[in-house]
Parts: sequence; structure tokens; C-alpha cells
Amino acid sequence: MSNRQLNWPTCYAHFQDHDVSLSEFDLIARYFTRPPQRAVLGVGDDCALIQPAPGMQLAISTDMLVEGCHFFSDLNPQHLGHKALAVNLSDLAACGAQPLAFTLALALPHSDATFLEPFARGLLRLADTHQCELIGGDTTRGPLTISITVFGEVPPGQALLRSGARAGDSLYVSGSLGDARLALDALRGQIHLSDSALAQARIALEQPQPRIALGLALRGLASSVIDLSDGLVGDLSQLLRRSQVGARVNVDALPIGAVLRSLSPAQQRQSALAGGDDYELLFTAAPHCAAQLPRIAAQTGVAITHIGQVEADAGLRLVDAQGQNLAEHYRSFDHFTP
Ligand code: ADP
Ligand code: MG
Repeated sequence: MSNRQLNWPTCYAHFQDHDVSLSEFDLIARYFTRPPQRAVLGVGDDCALIQPAPGMQLAISTDMLVEGCHFFSDLNPQHLGHKALAVNLSDLAACGAQPLAFTLALALPHSDATFLEPFARGLLRLADTHQCELIGGDTTRGPLTISITVFGEVPPGQALLRSGARAGDSLYVSGSLGDARLALDALRGQIHLSDSALAQARIALEQPQPRIALGLALRGLASSVIDLSDGLVGDLSQLLRRSQVGARVNVDALPIGAVLRSLSPAQQRQSALAGGDDYELLFTAAPHCAAQLPRIAAQTGVAITHIGQVEADAGLRLVDAQGQNLAEHYRSFDHFTP
């Protein structure tokens, strides 16, 4: 990082009245400035510049994490950094886009190195894993809030959308479901888990792995895709609405998380169907594509499970292994619905 790149005014008001805090300039320089890799221009100027490969479309998505709403105050900052980027990369995965770069808008109560150092480490480690570089952002004092915008690229016409499901397609989900919600319930004191079970479930909640490789492999194959953030029932319903179709899901076929498997069948269904924070990909594909999925699962190291069928009749029908309709109703997370 040259001095030239960092040659902007140093009279920042935001953090000056906090004794041990870094100035806004110093914290950006120390934690969030790295030499550009693919970007034409990174942190330090009024805008960053990126050059997508010739003819490619930019895929853009924003996700925000707010303390007390999306994470607990005592969450390990390294895991928070990881998760803030992971949930954004998950949207690129669902679109079938190759990650390029991201911006970071950060509101912090104070510029505390004991928070910033591990936060930046978790964030940038995941960024490096996916060669997605930090190219800019904004930093201000305020209640801890992290807003990231990711940029990816995808060949024209090949982006995976929510709207392409057709009657007769099969319905699949990646990985496993429900463990993240278990960790959340345990941390809230609503259920009890052993120390080792909680530790395992917390990995699902705090360090989800965005399914980038799977998203890329599904280009040209999946007819529709959505990533699971609010719970399968709600997210699938979004996809069905966008595609103007319905679906039948065999709840006994759902891939249940390793920790969740030890709980009752009722808890398994609740957490897998309506838990949220799974960050798996839910997708549909025409029947003739089924033969390719085992190879894709093996190549990406991510399980793919057939969980149902797309049907012409609107609505979501949940059935058990015997084909009986479920009596229970499940609802996904919504910020404005109590
Ligand atoms: P401006 O006043 O033009 O918005 P800022 O002083 O906010 O510029 O930011 C200076 C530079 O630092 C810009 O290039 C901006 O993109 C970058 N930046 C600010 N905050 C962050 C952050 N949290 N992470 C990465 N880059 C940041
Ligand atoms: Mg700014």
C-alpha cells in the first residue's frame, strides 16, 4: 500500500473522543486496505474500479447484519467477519456467479482493535478463499452494523434465477438443514444441547460455507435456484411464486443436520422446514438432468438431496414418506411479522 494511495485528509471526527481507539483513517488503512488483485483500483479513492471479463454481466447483491437482530453481541468477531461475507457470497452462489469483489459499510460503536483485528481476519480469509477482494466501503460510528455488497460475474443469459421452475422438474437441496437454528435456540436458552452438540451446531450458525462451486456447476442445468436464508418453507414459496408453479415436498426426505438428527422427529421437521440461516442452495432441474447430479456432488464435495417435485398447481404441499399431507403449518422468518 503506497502513501499515494492513502493520501486523503486525516481529520476524521467519528472516533476522536475514544481514548484507545484508532482514527477512521488508521482503521481503514490497517484492517481493510490491501493491494488490489484483479481490481483496477481498490480502497483509497472516491470510487473503486473493477473490470469484468469482456462481455460478462455483473451480478450484484447486498446483505446487512445488525447486532441484536442477526447476531448476538458476544459473537466471536472472527466468525462475525466470516458470516457477514458468507451470507452475501451465498447470493452470488444462488445466481451462479463467480465472485469478483465486495464493499464493506461498517457502523461501529468504537474503533476497538480487539474487535477489528479478528473481524477483518475472518472476513478476509473467506474473501481469499473465493478470490473476492475488498475494494472499498464506508466506516462510521453507530450501533454495530455490517452491510456488504458483493459483485460477481456471469455469462449473459446464464444467471440462475428464482423464476425458471417448471411443472415436472425435480426439487433438490444441498448440504443439510436445521443445525443453525438449533444453535440459535440453544443460545437463546430455549432448548438444551450438550457442549459438544452446541459447538457443532454453532459452526452451522456462525460459519456457513457459501455454495459457490455448486452454483457455478448448476449453470445450464438448474431451472431455478434460491439460497436458503429464512427457512425452506418461506424461501421455497418465494421461488414457486416467482416461477408461477407449486411443489410437493417429502419432509421425510429432507437432509437433517448431524446435531438435529438426535432430536425428536417434530423438532427435526420444525428446524429443517422453518429454521433459517442454512445458506444451502434449493434448486429445481428437469428430470433428464438427474444423472449429472452425483458427479456434481462429488466434484463440489456438497451433498445433493432430492426432496420433491414441481407441480402446475400453485402452493406448497408438505407430505410424509407415505404421501400423507402434514397437519402442521410452518412459517419462515420475517423481520416484520411477529
Ligand atoms: P469518502 O469520504 O469519499 O466516502 P471515505 O473517507 O469514507 O471516503 O473512505 C476513504 C476510502 O476508504 C474509500 O476508498 C472507501 O471506499 C474506503 N473505505 C472506507 N471504509 C471502508 C471499509 N470499512 N472497508 C473498506 N474500505 C473502506
Ligand atoms: Mg465514505
